[in-house]
Amino acid sequence: MNTDRPLAELLRPKSLDEFIGQEHLVGEGKIIRKLIDDREITSIIFWGPPGTGKTTLARIIANEVGANFYQISATEAGVKEIREVVELAKQNKTNHTARTDLFSNQLSNPQPSNPPTILFIDEIHRFNKAQQDRLLPFVEDGTIILIGATTENPSFEITSPLISRSRILILNSLSEEDLVKILKDALARLPEWASAKLATVDDGALELIARASSGDARKALNTLELSIQLGKTPKGTSKLTQEIVREALQQKHLAYDKSGDEHYNTISAFIKSMRAGDKDAAIYYLARMIESGEDPKFIARRMVIFASEDIGIANPTALVVANAVFRACEIIGYPECAINLAHGVAYLSSCNKDRSAYNALRKAQSDVEKYGNLPIPLKLRNAPTDLMKELGYGKDYEMYPKDDSYLPEKLRNKKYF
Ligand code: ADP
Repeated sequence: MNTDRPLAELLRPKSLDEFIGQEHLVGEGKIIRKLIDDREITSIIFWGPPGTGKTTLARIIANEVGANFYQISATEAGVKEIREVVELAKQNKTNHTARTDLFSNQLSNPQPSNPPTILFIDEIHRFNKAQQDRLLPFVEDGTIILIGATTENPSFEITSPLISRSRILILNSLSEEDLVKILKDALARLPEWASAKLATVDDGALELIARASSGDARKALNTLELSIQLGKTPKGTSKLTQEIVREALQQKHLAYDKSGDEHYNTISAFIKSMRAGDKDAAIYYLARMIESGEDPKFIARRMVIFASEDIGIANPTALVVANAVFRACEIIGYPECAINLAHGVAYLSSCNKDRSAYNALRKAQSDVEKYGNLPIPLKLRNAPTDLMKELGYGKDYEMYPKDDSYLPEKLRNKKYF
């Protein structure tokens, strides 16, 4: 019995019927079900938070249509691996037989006579433009069907030719009810080593796990697994209580998790150090993020936001520099783009700071929320027709008024800056 693989891996749904939630994609008559029923698999980009079923869906699709399935992660693989998979796909086409080499996993459904090849690329946004461009001809001529998974907005991270050749499908965070269902399913399908141990499950224990998992099924299943281990009694059985779950959650909290708390703590310390002008702290947190393999574009994107949020008109060049750092990360990638990041950090930390535009925006947004769309003053309205002119649209409009407010009447003379 293999007890090394995490529970979440062992219990990964193999068919659409075992897949929970994301009804807008997998429900009756919805896109994924249609694609599978029609056997018309096109390239897809799954966009959604971690642990919501992107990898699982890609595997289910491949399984259901009997495709050859190869999986790579853009954090580790590059052009070499793309080339290897393309070679395999070409061989598959000529041999008409399934291959289960290198990156492939055995899938259970029988294969059609000429099985398509699906290349699944996890974290596809981590490929730079050149790497993404390499995929294009093979997606275009049908050598491979690309399924990409990304947690980042594809419009910023995926090149437009790839976007235009793929369907972008959005996965949502799983609801607490979905997570409880997944956990209950898991309990019913526990591998022997775990189910033999688990004697009782207290009321509310699964709900507690679901609530603490922020819509992420992997997190939920990992917590379940750890709870079963922690709940061991001297008799060798295991009791799942709310108390044990709390203990498991605390232990997980302490463990380093790149997509979890530590990741957000480090970026938060990084931003706050730049804000305070503490260059030394900022460069230290930058180094930590780089060493832990943080996505350079994630760091650079935060710097672009920081340049406007915290520096603003105190030094408008900050936005230009931050953008240039982002671009450098995009075209250069690790390891060298770390130098560009350091350059940007040194500059942004030492700039004067001004949050007036950011603060004004927040105040104005709160008024928009509070008052809805207040009527625009007549004098400021566009008057393309005579009737509108008659109604007073555009009347008394002055280009450079001395003591006038252009705000809606209700907010007249309100100051956001
Ligand atoms: P990601 O979106 O990060 O690719 P995965 O598809 O790898 O997430 O999901 C991680 C694990 O969580 C899977 O192995 C599976 O056990 C479980 N899981 C995720 N989504 C679902 C779902 N919708 N239904 C059932 N299990 C799921």
